[in-house]
Amino acid sequence: MDSQRRFFVIGNWKMNVDKSRIDSIVKFMTAASLNPRTEAVVGCPSCYLSYARQQLPNNIGVAAQNCYKVAKGNFSGEISAAMIEDCGCEWVILGHPERRTIFHEPDDLIREKVAHALKSGLKVVACVCETKEDRDEGRTWQVLEAQMASLAASVSDWSRVVIAFEALWASNTGVLATPNQVQEVLSQLRQWLRHNVSHSVADTTRIIYAGSVSSDNCQEMARLADLDGFLVGSAALRTDIIDIINARG
Ligand code: PGA
Repeated sequence: MDSQRRFFVIGNWKMNVDKSRIDSIVKFMTAASLNPRTEAVVGCPSCYLSYARQQLPNNIGVAAQNCYKVAKGNFSGEISAAMIEDCGCEWVILGHPERRTIFHEPDDLIREKVAHALKSGLKVVACVCETKEDRDEGRTWQVLEAQMASLAASVSDWSRVVIAFEALWASNTGVLATPNQVQEVLSQLRQWLRHNVSHSVADTTRIIYAGSVSSDNCQEMARLADLDGFLVGSAALRTDIIDIINARG
């Protein structure tokens, strides 16, 4: 928690919405009173980016959930940073744990995507994650450090990057990460920035947490020293997202 860093909440709809579901989420989000000190963004499937942008008020940002590493060309099925901007959106989520694990995106590809998205003018939620095996085998930090080093090599302007740490073992598994476990990793990530990038980047870069964040656990975690917000999956489809956006009073 630090006043230099604006609280940031991104509700990632993943592949779980259609137009009518977007309409109902937009309805409850616009009817609610959202803390203006929180920067609120939604992560939208690419085919609905323009639609979501048109439906949502300007105080809620819209992010794509992925994009490719070049501006245009023969890359069937991909979208570019320029296309996201053309849809009126300014954010992209890159290196999401589902991209890393289900679609086997390696650190190198994610690094190239982050570099390209930043160069194109987008803001990036760059994800790093640990799996259950990483934690059980005591290699959490080793894995995160490698992901951070790869990522940092691509970042020219840290003011346009939010780092999201996801404990994959705590995402929709019925197991929750404790606030202490979350703070421990977030503080290590900030220390990494301090030692490998700069003090000012460590002090100003927002680091957020993902892994079954809900109405029930957001307030306690919002008080953690190194936590600057949340990346929210399932709870972003429910009115829980209002409580999460407002978690830091
Ligand atoms: P979850 O998803 O909140 O449902 O755990 C988070 C994410 O993977 O973005």
